[in-house]
Amino acid sequence: MLPPETELWNRVEQTAREVFGTYGFGEIRPPIFEPTELFARAVGGETDIVSKEMYSFEDHGFIELEQWRAGLITRSVGAGLPSEFEKYEKSVLAYLDILSARMSAGEVPKTPENEKALVAVRNCLKEMNQAGASFLRTQTGAGEFAFENLLKGVKQALLSFRFGDVLSLRPEATAGICRAYIEHNMQQWPAPVKLYCFGPMFRRERPQKGRYRQFYQIDAEVLGGSDAPGIDAEVIEMVMTFFAKLELPGVLLEINSIGHSGAGTHGKAVCRRAYVEALRAALEKVKDKLGADSQRRIETNPLRVLDSKLESEQGIIAGLPKIGDYLCEECKTHYAEVKRQLDLRGVKYVENWRLVRGLDYYMRTTFEITARGLGSQNAVCGGGRYDGLVELLGGPPTKGIGFAIGEDRLILSLQEARKEVASGEWRLAIETKNPPSKTEGGAPGGGIGRDVYIAWMGEKAQVAAIAAARRLREAGLRVELPPVAQKFGKALGQADKLGARFALILGEDEVASGQWTVKTLADGAQEKVGEADVVEWLQKKKV
Ligand code: AMP
Repeated sequence: MLPPETELWNRVEQTAREVFGTYGFGEIRPPIFEPTELFARAVGGETDIVSKEMYSFEDHGFIELEQWRAGLITRSVGAGLPSEFEKYEKSVLAYLDILSARMSAGEVPKTPENEKALVAVRNCLKEMNQAGASFLRTQTGAGEFAFENLLKGVKQALLSFRFGDVLSLRPEATAGICRAYIEHNMQQWPAPVKLYCFGPMFRRERPQKGRYRQFYQIDAEVLGGSDAPGIDAEVIEMVMTFFAKLELPGVLLEINSIGHSGAGTHGKAVCRRAYVEALRAALEKVKDKLGADSQRRIETNPLRVLDSKLESEQGIIAGLPKIGDYLCEECKTHYAEVKRQLDLRGVKYVENWRLVRGLDYYMRTTFEITARGLGSQNAVCGGGRYDGLVELLGGPPTKGIGFAIGEDRLILSLQEARKEVASGEWRLAIETKNPPSKTEGGAPGGGIGRDVYIAWMGEKAQVAAIAAARRLREAGLRVELPPVAQKFGKALGQADKLGARFALILGEDEVASGQWTVKTLADGAQEKVGEADVVEWLQKKKV
């Protein structure tokens, strides 16, 4: 990436910072590599991303030990020649002594797996001594076979020894962010914790336009707090606002609910489990007409058949059962409310029942956003709710929802749009109207600060609150809009915790009179401000 293109990248990132900041998000910078195990657990060992596409390596500097091991592993040892075996055994034992010493010194990991590997090598050697002796005595094929098997055991155990941690370049950001959330006890921060990050991700995929082995994502996650549908809608509203600011062409938002994966009572499958059963049964019936990939997935992960882009399968897929008909009452209600909350925010969407995620901890809301000018790789953003993930990684039960934007594709689409304008005079909206950034400062007990907390009660007040949040954010203020109504006392406590400077109080009286109550939290002073003047009032007070 070279200038002047990097200028466009910077502007896109700057716009993301500003828009996300106005929704109360703070930046996190997780490391580029993490233990492989983290991704295996969070993304799933069965997925292509983990099983085929990760760049993994053992993190150590013991080249000589590795070469020594390579020598021991490739050496053949004649079973019938005692002196040859004795030499080999001696060499292996000397090697084990050095490994043990390094482990005791803490230079190589003293893990149960490594201890086990050392014990296994010694045990195999012991048995080989016996097998070798008995072979020499009896000269039978069976004795030789046993000897060879044990030699294989020695070599495998040597190979399983780790000189350092096994790490991977991150294929995505959510796992690292959840790991950091647990490690830094962010559940003690005022909830919800809203984080975003930028940076390169790595997947060994087949490179083509819009698909690279090092690509960039803009990632945002909301962790902790409730799973109120208002949160799902607000996250989606935020990314759509960001795309609108960039004037990204041909933006299309697709949404779906994939229910939850919990077991039902009395052994009867419910919600997603019931759907997967029905889907599998339906797929079995049309198995012969499906391609090899889909046939395999009937067993392993039938939901992924719905992702198929194969022309010949599209007609068949259209006739399969739809998840919407299987959602349990709670998931159905959640989904309906997400849609209502999107409507309240004026966010346009289409429903796509084929939008699924293959992993168990993904649940309820999923969404994908496509844009113009990208050919077949036209998804610029994917996201969804993942309430089980933090717990799966060893943390407390934690609600979570987030998305990842493919920045390379976003930029490609913006560049295509630029080309479409014949005059060449066209400039991106962000290049001409760059709003000033006012998104700095943290919360008192750690965490991310806010300028305004909007406390609302009642249906009419929520409509006003959503509109007020949009106006304040457009003016560059960091706003927290609770997804559900709260008693004002509780709301003010929450505003304090978040380090908000002002609380905007919207009850029935305020909405009816158009005179809103604004409280300055530092001194508790309360004032009535006309609805039309509130943005200006807050901006003046803030500086
Ligand atoms: P995912 O993490 O797979 O849900 O992907 C989220 C977004 O990242 C996608 O919608 C793409 O825009 C982008 N993306 C994923 N993989 C690649 C890749 N190999 N090259 C470029 N962009 C990618």
